[in-house]
Amino acid sequence: MQDCFGRTIDYMRISVTDRCNLRCVYCMPAEGVQQISHDEILRIEEIATIARIASDLGIRRIRLTGGEPLVRRGIEDLIYSLSSLDSIESVALTTNGILLSAKAEALKQAGLSRVNISLDTLDPQVFSQITRGGSLDKVREGIDAAFAVGFDPIKLNVVTTRSLDQDFFAFAKLSLDRPLHVRFIECMPIGAAGSEARWSSEDVIPSSELIEHINNKARSQGIGPLHEVVEDKPVGWGPARYYRFDKAFGTVGFISPLSNHFCAQCNRLRMTADGQVRPCLFSDQEFDAKTALRRYGEEGVRKTLSQALASKPDEHHFRVGTLRQMSQIGG
Ligand code: SAM
Ligand code: SF4
Repeated sequence: MQDCFGRTIDYMRISVTDRCNLRCVYCMPAEGVQQISHDEILRIEEIATIARIASDLGIRRIRLTGGEPLVRRGIEDLIYSLSSLDSIESVALTTNGILLSAKAEALKQAGLSRVNISLDTLDPQVFSQITRGGSLDKVREGIDAAFAVGFDPIKLNVVTTRSLDQDFFAFAKLSLDRPLHVRFIECMPIGAAGSEARWSSEDVIPSSELIEHINNKARSQGIGPLHEVVEDKPVGWGPARYYRFDKAFGTVGFISPLSNHFCAQCNRLRMTADGQVRPCLFSDQEFDAKTALRRYGEEGVRKTLSQALASKPDEHHFRVGTLRQMSQIGG
């Protein structure tokens, strides 16, 4: 699939639920968000059908997200269906890690290729503040379980802000001893949590500043600076720029949607848990694949996906705030 700007679109992020067992401050308001009613959420078989049609059109890689995808009942069945599709090369998942230790083995058995685990601090108290009540131990157990069952690569997603108390160098050092790929992501103005009132451009740490900060710390501890990885990047490297400390097993990546946006290389469509296809994370424009499927069947979905593809904007134009929260879109 090619969009109007000549970009190849072969990656789809599918949100399987808007429910979450955490309440991260940058992702959703403290009171949570109004949940989509049960009837409006796509059934597992419906998600699989839409994904199959998308794969016929050219989607090759799928990432499952949420809300928290591991709270969705039937997630293993979905992974099995998707990974069995001939033209799908990989099925990955982004999780907060809380339920990962319990589910890692079943996910691997179902055919999951890779996991990204989101974690913004290594301090249990700060973790509880950022997630409004989450347990860091659970996430650590989840990371260990992901290694134990053999997921590779395993990436840690760290959303970076000035206002939260985060030790970025401690995260970077996690790449030294294990093949763990730590990726720092600039906090984005999505949802009401990303509206002018709650999100501020001053809170965003540009990746260039963060690299310098990490390198200064690394030099002072005799570790030496990060070197850019040109070859041998972690599989599914996407929009991150990767670096490595000498002799490290893992890498340190930087995703800079704001300070150095990568819209020209955008390769994706997104679908929400209620079956709305979004051409761009930052835009409220959506195309209703759920109604298309329920009313018009597979041909309706094909048409909807083509319309969404044709509507992909050239770039996000630094829009601030969206109607849906990040937890409803899937990141
Ligand atoms: N619950 C799962 C998790 O946290 O990994 C999957 C859904 S979450 C919405 C997907 C990713 O979006 C996570 O890595 C999360 O840290 C990230 N995210 C959420 N809000 C964000 C924001 N405002 N800016 C940048 N990334 C954000
Ligand atoms: Fe939940 Fe993930 Fe959003 Fe945190 S970032 S509130 S874990 S959906």
